[in-house]
Amino acid sequence: MNDNIITAEEVRELLEFQPGGTLVTSFYLNVDPRHVPSSKFTTLTRNLLRDKQQSLEKEDWPREMLDKVKEDFKKIENFVINHFELKGRVRGLVIIADAARDFFQVYRVAQPVKSQVVVDPDPYIRPLIAILDEYHRLMLVLVDQREARLLTVYMGEILEYEAYHSDVRGKVKEGGWYGLEERRIERSIKNKIVRHYQRVADAVLEHFRRGHFEYLFIGMKVEDYSLFFPLLHSYLQPLVKERLDIGPKDHINTIIDAALKAERKIEEEEDNRILEQLVETLNRGGLATKGIDNVLRSIPLGACQALVVDDDYHMPGYVCEDCPYLALQEGICTFCGKEALPVEDVIEEAMEEVLLQRGEIKYITADNPRLEEISHIGAFLRYQI
Ligand SMILES: [Zn+2]
Repeated sequence: MNDNIITAEEVRELLEFQPGGTLVTSFYLNVDPRHVPSSKFTTLTRNLLRDKQQSLEKEDWPREMLDKVKEDFKKIENFVINHFELKGRVRGLVIIADAARDFFQVYRVAQPVKSQVVVDPDPYIRPLIAILDEYHRLMLVLVDQREARLLTVYMGEILEYEAYHSDVRGKVKEGGWYGLEERRIERSIKNKIVRHYQRVADAVLEHFRRGHFEYLFIGMKVEDYSLFFPLLHSYLQPLVKERLDIGPKDHINTIIDAALKAERKIEEEEDNRILEQLVETLNRGGLATKGIDNVLRSIPLGACQALVVDDDYHMPGYVCEDCPYLALQEGICTFCGKEALPVEDVIEEAMEEVLLQRGEIKYITADNPRLEEISHIGAFLRYQI
């Protein structure tokens, strides 16, 4: 069983999962130990599945389809009770199951998810897309005069690379009066420290060349930073987001917290940059639109280049089963004349369609005040609609 955090590749595979006249169960369980004690997993799972079962019975699905869903529910319950173990940085458990097609996949995510069960011809993957979008590859370089630790952070997962040690035994004094011999020793120590920093800076450059990160955070004392920073390659200096008050000797939990905070900071900056660009494009009448009606209209036309959406925005609506027609109101598909079918969340359908058209999704964290300016959803367009 795969115990690793979900990858972008796995989400893409799910995206290509085509409806095949069966019902797919998408099960999400928040297993964040800060909010949900593990003793509750079983009860929570049973309640979620029982409630969904009851609501499904009220809808008029064929008996044999419901029996398959029941099979999936049993397997999910069995997995949570007998096989799931909370390990590492896992905060969310996701299971996509379709007994009719012999499909049962377990995914772990490093972010809390909203506990829910969705039964639909498509797997419900919107929360997974949101999770992928929110993360960037960061490198954390923790350096002091003797040691260095290099870690990358991606989707809340921390990977530690090789450590570096210098052969410095003494310590550069902060100032004062020395004899000639002491000054000579002092200079030799300083040279060793610079060599140590240089090795670290070279290693960071090598990681950058291998595509291991987009942003850098340097954990070191402010008085050492002025010596280290100029040693970083000129490619790397602009990637440094911040100096952090942590070092290689700090506890791993302190380091992880700092890393995750760094991730959030980058996400926030990016959200603001995207919203600003969208509002500016709208104001000058450029290739952009806002509001749910306009966005839904742009997608079936293939005009949506990048969907910008509040990560907590949901809306029931209608979709055509044969083409990408999306609407808020019940009615006939304006492209092919079929009756559009109701869906729980038309935003989810919209996102899937945009991704299939090789467009992008930009999630904005729901508490951003500027989301009002675009009525919670907007898009950059390929052409004017
Ligand atoms: Zn249609």
